[in-house]
Amino acid sequence: MTFKRGDRLVIASHNKGKVSEIQDLLLPYGIECVSAHDLNLTEAEETGTTFVENAIIKAKSAASESGLYSLADDSGFAVKALNGDPGVYSARWAGPDRDFDMAMRLVHEKLEDHADKSASFICVLALCAPDGNVQTFEGRVDGQMVWPPRGDKGFGYDPVFIAHGHDKTFAEIDPAQKHAVSHRADAFQKFIAACFPDG
Ligand code: IMP
Repeated sequence: MTFKRGDRLVIASHNKGKVSEIQDLLLPYGIECVSAHDLNLTEAEETGTTFVENAIIKAKSAASESGLYSLADDSGFAVKALNGDPGVYSARWAGPDRDFDMAMRLVHEKLEDHADKSASFICVLALCAPDGNVQTFEGRVDGQMVWPPRGDKGFGYDPVFIAHGHDKTFAEIDPAQKHAVSHRADAFQKFIAACFPDG
């Protein structure tokens, strides 16, 4: 699947933080982005047990409802000593009120007795054509979990994650700095390389 300037793409997410990061990342390529929320599309249930499965579920649902190409992101915070949790359940650990202060505290409490604070953010992008054909791209950024939370930028678990080679959390740095190293940017580079032949 290839794209050129002026093509339309549905961002298959109802998460404002994610949609705005994806729009920023696609800005240089002249793609007209519209969000699933703006098109009033249903929020597909994430019944998969992997990032790939969930990204495909969301992308397929948005493409079939809208008749447009769609791009879904399934991502999460994976802590090594917790066997990759919260992982695909990252949003669900925050409960129905999307309380990420609570979710971060939960991770901290479970990790307290472990010396290894290694953690990663993982992102899988699924691109789905209106005919149901899907391609996926995976990105990650490794680092560690810190406590207490620091910074008020970003979203989700950003305040408790420091990428390797950095000394500030993802919530303390500007979005442009986060885009330079993030899991989403890594997956995007792979998506761009495969689908934007004109750069
Ligand atoms: P999803 O919408 O099911 O993919 O849930 C992803 C969840 O993972 C988000 O709600 C956040 O909690 C977390 N997450 C994913 N990407 C990021 C990020 O860049 N920063 C902080 N948290 C993230």
